[in-house]
Amino acid sequence: MVRYVYDFAEGSRDMAGLLGGKGSNLAEMTRLGLPVPPGFTVTTEACRAYLDTGGEPAGMWQEVSAHLTAIETAAGRPLGQPEDPLLVSVRSGARFSMPGMMETILDIGLTDESVLGLAKVSGSERFAWDSYRRLVQMFGSTVMGVDSTHFEHALTALKELREVPDDVHLTADDLAGLVETYKELIRRETGEHFPQSPAEQLRRAVLAVFESWNGERARLYRRREHIADDLGTAVTVQRMVFGNLGSDSGSGVAFTRDPATGRPGMYGDYLPDAQGEDVVAGIRNTVPLTELERLDPASHTRLRAHMETLERHYRDLCDIEFTIERGTLWMLQTRVGKRTAEAAFAIAAALVDEGLITSDEALARVGGEQLARLMFPRFDTSGTGAPLARGIPASPGAAVGAAVFDSSSAVRRAAAGEKVVLVRQETTPDDLPGMLAAQAVLTSRGGKTSHAAVVARGMGKVCVCGAEALTVDTGARRCTAPDGTVVEEGTVVSVDGSAGAVYAGTVPLTDSAVIRYLEDGSTDEDANGLVAAVARALYRADTVRRLEVRANADTPEDAARARRFGAQGVGLCRTEHMFLGERRKLVEAMILARDEAERDQALGALLPLQRQDFIGILEAMDGLPVTIRLIDPPLHEFLPDRTELAVRIATAEARGAVPGPHDADLLDAVNRTHEENPMLGLRGVRLGLVVPGLVAMQVRAVAEAVVERTKAGGSPQAEIMVPLVGAVEELRIEREEVERVLAEVSRESGVPVRCPVGTMIELPRAALTAGRIAAEAEFFSFGTNDLTQTTWGFSRDDVEAAFFSAYLDKGIFATSPFETLDRDGVGRLVRIAVDEGRAARPGLKIGVCGEHGGDPDSVHFFHSAGLDYVSCSPFRVPVARLEAGRAALEGTDVSDSR
Ligand code: ADP
Ligand code: MG
Ligand code: MG
Repeated sequence: MVRYVYDFAEGSRDMAGLLGGKGSNLAEMTRLGLPVPPGFTVTTEACRAYLDTGGEPAGMWQEVSAHLTAIETAAGRPLGQPEDPLLVSVRSGARFSMPGMMETILDIGLTDESVLGLAKVSGSERFAWDSYRRLVQMFGSTVMGVDSTHFEHALTALKELREVPDDVHLTADDLAGLVETYKELIRRETGEHFPQSPAEQLRRAVLAVFESWNGERARLYRRREHIADDLGTAVTVQRMVFGNLGSDSGSGVAFTRDPATGRPGMYGDYLPDAQGEDVVAGIRNTVPLTELERLDPASHTRLRAHMETLERHYRDLCDIEFTIERGTLWMLQTRVGKRTAEAAFAIAAALVDEGLITSDEALARVGGEQLARLMFPRFDTSGTGAPLARGIPASPGAAVGAAVFDSSSAVRRAAAGEKVVLVRQETTPDDLPGMLAAQAVLTSRGGKTSHAAVVARGMGKVCVCGAEALTVDTGARRCTAPDGTVVEEGTVVSVDGSAGAVYAGTVPLTDSAVIRYLEDGSTDEDANGLVAAVARALYRADTVRRLEVRANADTPEDAARARRFGAQGVGLCRTEHMFLGERRKLVEAMILARDEAERDQALGALLPLQRQDFIGILEAMDGLPVTIRLIDPPLHEFLPDRTELAVRIATAEARGAVPGPHDADLLDAVNRTHEENPMLGLRGVRLGLVVPGLVAMQVRAVAEAVVERTKAGGSPQAEIMVPLVGAVEELRIEREEVERVLAEVSRESGVPVRCPVGTMIELPRAALTAGRIAAEAEFFSFGTNDLTQTTWGFSRDDVEAAFFSAYLDKGIFATSPFETLDRDGVGRLVRIAVDEGRAARPGLKIGVCGEHGGDPDSVHFFHSAGLDYVSCSPFRVPVARLEAGRAALEGTDVSDSR
């Protein structure tokens, strides 16, 4: 029989799929003997069944009742009993934490009757009414669907009437009156009464959590985080403990290390006389945990001990929620905490030093995208004045953008291509779309655990929160700094999430410490040991990885930088980039040539230029392979724009002038080479086969560069790569020409030039006939950009802007196939080509040179497909090294190695 409910004592953290993150970790804490209020969890399976059928699965309520009875028996009183009510919370918790998505309801079991009982047994009328008004408010908005701003307005109005700054100053009578106002509000808005049956409250709350799985915000978050829509959420029901029982009570959140920098030490916020959600809501100002040490040293000591237990048990940074009820500490939640990229590296290294994890585990816990973030530039504030304001550095990085004061403006302006900074007093889940659209989030309230901070960190967005000196007026769409500077909507500001400062205008950028280290090994200015931690992760990755990492580089400078970043060669050198700028004229002359002599002259002028380029790159990569791709793009890319040219000629004619003969020739050539679908036209190997002399010139340039480098005592390792081959015959013919020229140059120079000749695999036909192509190819390199275009039938430049966002919305793909390799389609072709290519030519060297070569997920695929190397842009080389290492660990027991 299927079970739908598990007591905390029956679960464990391995059951997150079934009990959700929150439920399974509560179970784990219970098993560890930490003080967790008793409770049980209704499984994600029950939620899935409910969402599939629209009704709760058979037997679920009986199970819930049985487990509730157990809690009631232990507590010695039933849920909502009038004289002495047991109260519970109903909490959502999916497999993956989804901050702020699903609302928790506290104080279930309170009614008009039991609130009086609670007042009596607790000895505090104020507390009882405060709890009741929270329940009516949360239940009203979450379960009954009343717009929560109605409740907030009523509360604000009451506080204004009583002239008190916050809700702790409201009296029991005030709160009792507020409950009446709230209940009336619910009647007005829904036509229903707030339910006075504790059992009905519980039942409706549980179902509301199920329903909330499909709420709009939850879906948006899942789409962005690539969380499957069919996982469902679990629901945890737990006996209430009360942080709002007076000044010897309170609630807090804490991290076992600083989630922004990774520095060790308890880190968190505490709010006396408050229920849990007050801490993160930012309605009152929290105090740091050091203050708790003063207020309640005994609880602080216990908290520290529990946090140590948790960190040693989870062997990672944990974040926790706790409540102190009249001096008794209760643990309400834990999980492995989110952290910034910086903290991820620092913590991984620290845990290795503390002997808690192995270096392989440390490597598994950091990611390529995090590393990429650490390579972003930082602000150079040396020439900048004082900041407008300072706040808490909640999520690091440097961002510049126009200030906007609400989510929809952020979305609108960002969609129009503008960079924006979302400025709010504090954020709520309603701001999520705007946070997604913004470069940075800036708030005037809230601490490191506020909604803005937690969500921004999760997204890798720059965030400064709690910049209290700023007066944010969202209604007027402006904020004011203490020095009187007014930032209107649209004003550019610079937000430094690492230092926690915001500046007016655009602050210039400078290299990050990680980039400086990668460039020249320098590790100064590194207060947190971040650079050392990154170096250790990369070292470990280099030790365990099987994939080699090369770079795509077209200039000696790029090649040199790539080498400093750890590239083991150039996987793609695009020769056509050497035809642009000044040299375009020479290409033009070649295209316009009327006879062989003119063409040879033009090619002859290009030859020494190309040779020089290759000499530079081969020198920068001396001793390492450099894969040079023969010309790829269609020729008209080197000619002037057709319309521009036609207009120029037409205006000349209109003025009565005779257009220059050159222009006329050019227009002729442009018309001749014009293609409707250039991506599928005369390009790649086709050009080499049809345009005489072009390939010979390029190969000669390569060969002569090899000769020159050899004579200079170098060790040039050039490889020649033919693009866009679809049939082995194309490659055979082209290759004969290549070999002929290589032999010619060898003869002339007396230096034997031996360059492997290979091909790109970037057409489905090439992949499907790879066995035959391998007979003529000494290596393969997947051009996954073109292979994606031709497999999907997408012209990248046309489709991305036109409909990719709609496709992402509709869930047709979770990420663009141009960013992350489409394993099912393109990946299948890759596997076929690898298998058949190697079957035909054992030991065939195979790499990838599309942009996917630097994408973490794709790197893992290429590793599993058995490729020899990935090649990516120089700045992605460290990312690829790290991910290649992580890919090699996949499926191994990382806790077991040294
Ligand atoms: P979220 O997922 O948004 O953090 P939680 O389920 O953790 O939601 O609950 C919101 C707040 O209510 C948290 O601060 C939590 O600690 C508090 N809370 C939840 N259950 C209880 C309980 N049984 N007693 C006291 N506080 C609770
Ligand atoms: Mg929580
Ligand atoms: Mg291509």
